Amino acid sequence: MTTLFTQQQAKIVGFARVAVERSVDQYPDGLVYAVPEQLGELAIGARVVVPLGRGNTATAGYVIELMRETELDETRIKAIESEAHKAAMPRQLIELAKWISSYYCCPIGMTLSAMMPAAVKKQTGLVGKTMIDLSSDLSNDLKLPAKQRHVVDVLSALPSNRRPVEIRVLKELAELGTLSAIKQLIEKKVLNAKPKTTIEAAWIQQTLDTTIPDKLTNPQSKIIDDISLKLNKGFSAHLLFGVTGSGKTEVYIRLIQAVIAKGKMAIVLVPEIALTPQTGGRLIGRFPDHRVAILHSGLTAAQRNQQWMMAAKGEAEIVLGARSAIFAPIPDDRLGIIIVDEEHDGSYKQDQLPRYHGRDVAIRRAQLAKCPVLLGSATPSLESWYNATVKNSYTIHRLEKRVPGLRLPLVKIVDFAAERKRRDDRRVHLIGPVLENAIGETLDRNGQVIILLNRRGYANYIACPDHRCGWLMACDDCDSTMVFHINRNLRGGGFVRCHHCEGELRLPERCPDCDKQVTTFGLGTQRVEEELARKFPQLVDGSTMLRVDSDSMSGVKDLHDALGRFGDEKIKLLVGTQMIAKGLDFPKVQLVGVINADTALNLPDFRAAERTHQLVSQVAGRCGRGDGPSLVIVQTFQPDAASIKLAAAHDYESFAKLELAERTRCKLPPITRMARLVVRDVNYPQCVSTAKRIASRLRQIASEAVRLRGPAPCPISRIAGKHRQQIELLADSPILLQELLVAGRNQGLLHAGAGLVVDVDPIALL
Ligand code: ADP
Ligand code: ZN
Ligand code: ZN
Repeated sequence: MTTLFTQQQAKIVGFARVAVERSVDQYPDGLVYAVPEQLGELAIGARVVVPLGRGNTATAGYVIELMRETELDETRIKAIESEAHKAAMPRQLIELAKWISSYYCCPIGMTLSAMMPAAVKKQTGLVGKTMIDLSSDLSNDLKLPAKQRHVVDVLSALPSNRRPVEIRVLKELAELGTLSAIKQLIEKKVLNAKPKTTIEAAWIQQTLDTTIPDKLTNPQSKIIDDISLKLNKGFSAHLLFGVTGSGKTEVYIRLIQAVIAKGKMAIVLVPEIALTPQTGGRLIGRFPDHRVAILHSGLTAAQRNQQWMMAAKGEAEIVLGARSAIFAPIPDDRLGIIIVDEEHDGSYKQDQLPRYHGRDVAIRRAQLAKCPVLLGSATPSLESWYNATVKNSYTIHRLEKRVPGLRLPLVKIVDFAAERKRRDDRRVHLIGPVLENAIGETLDRNGQVIILLNRRGYANYIACPDHRCGWLMACDDCDSTMVFHINRNLRGGGFVRCHHCEGELRLPERCPDCDKQVTTFGLGTQRVEEELARKFPQLVDGSTMLRVDSDSMSGVKDLHDALGRFGDEKIKLLVGTQMIAKGLDFPKVQLVGVINADTALNLPDFRAAERTHQLVSQVAGRCGRGDGPSLVIVQTFQPDAASIKLAAAHDYESFAKLELAERTRCKLPPITRMARLVVRDVNYPQCVSTAKRIASRLRQIASEAVRLRGPAPCPISRIAGKHRQQIELLADSPILLQELLVAGRNQGLLHAGAGLVVDVDPIALL
């Protein structure tokens, strides 16, 4: 290549393909720009600013390829303006982004943009600290001015665990007015100075748990040995199927120790880490010295940036976080293992672009990093179960029993309909007599109680009491009913809210059709809270009893405070949504009550049974973690539902077998693969005609091996004013789907954007 001069008269040293941070499909493979000499060494993964479009709008993007020459017309190529900052993506993440972009149908620039936290892009709050220590080859008879001698003495007197010390702290300790004495000592090489970024993960420090079990169980040891043999041996995938309390976390910890001993790093994904501080507390407790970088939604922007940089520099050896931690910028060749805890959890799937699944991206990343990936769960997703037991693409490891000293609780199913019939009063009780007695007994012997109801608010129906009128309050903008929320400070005692668009209104006093006074019915956590207060006067709301849901907890800190008070046994009873179903490990919990196990069972989603089984099993797992008695009571209108019965029997395997047979019969995932398209439009006829046009064009280009269903209205046919029509694509292999999606994209049919959602491997079907 000959050098050439652009309009800026800069010397060009090469070319770069840049993925611009734009949510458009126009440049699926990025755009080619010239690299001017003054940029210096540019790496793949660098974040740069380039001129885009006719107006040359300065736009950020990532270098995804470097070339010495190009076949394009060089005189028309624009030059990169600048490097945005020094935080670059490792090459492995660029490869991962390419895969995500094509697999999940998301423009590459947008994918990369989503992988790097905003705080890193903005370089928020990056404070470099200078750490000072004595030089190792310091001789004692060195002649120094008094002030400098004083500094050396102060530093020498510090205990070794406080060294190196931050330069400003040393200045204070030595009572200096300026830094000059210290700086002179650094120049004389009496002191050495090293730069360091600080870690301020203050939230987690209260919950550290440093307990090390005396002895591993035999199954634990065997699994650790088996997987240890695979470290440094390329890609391998493992499913750790272990009941709640069987010591899965201990297996993770030992494997991470083995990985670190080999000089490598680990990524640990946990669902919504901010909501499950105990897991984090245990991991960090066992890896002191600030070697865990944490990435989760409860961090400040500055903390997030710091944690990310710690991982990028390889200063942290473990990255712990929710789904997006799978994009931790671990230096290439350093990743030694990826662990996905509670791999079945729905929060691993992102519901906006790029619509990736953290677990599946973890598998892809492990393939790129050539390292093992370990998925753990007491109730694996059927996808993973199928991969492990039918396709044998994962190795399965089992922990069938709880660790010594812990027992699985007895789970009692209560037929709620039958119980209601036996009642002689006409009041609606959400807590039946069996559960009520059990709560009373548990509180009497000073045990703790967890009550689950997976629905917030007070009542999910607001209606006319006259059934001949039949008025039911629905959201004006959504295909859904409004939910009544109590708020004693408001006139009327509360407000109504739509749980899909979050729109709020006053509670109407009278039916708009016939003017009768409205009634509210249905269930919600607030109503359970009210009933508990009525039935157990010894419980004081806000003090010995607490409701935990996204309405009552305004942030991560609230939740951590609440769990802290529950851990101290100040709170006796927690009532809440699935927020309290996950990951809690409190030994004094002797009773878990499920108000209504059916809330998710009747949803029009083929995973309804699977989710119900998971939820009941997980919440039951919060019980029986100490030496006291333990009991789980599950109220349901469908006591014969297999998902509930088998959860009560702690029998995941039978459930998985039944459910897989059902999915095979209906040709549904995981036997097949699915992609879902949702067309959204405020204009109904337009919504339908767009969906029809896309479906018919896709039918023309689809191979016979792809089944196309729809278009049809989504189960929730309108949200926030937009009508929703869906098209489902099903095929035996992901490749068949990919081919169709690529063809659709190439024909301009499937531009991701506000009007169309393309969801590959969807998990929400409403
Ligand atoms: P899981 O992740 O499978 O739910 P945990 O790892 O939380 O299980 O283990 C449950 C409890 O048992 C924890 O308090 C843990 O410290 C303890 N534990 C783990 N392994 C052992 C062991 N080998 N012996 C005794 N206790 C153990
Ligand atoms: Zn709404
Ligand atoms: Zn009416």
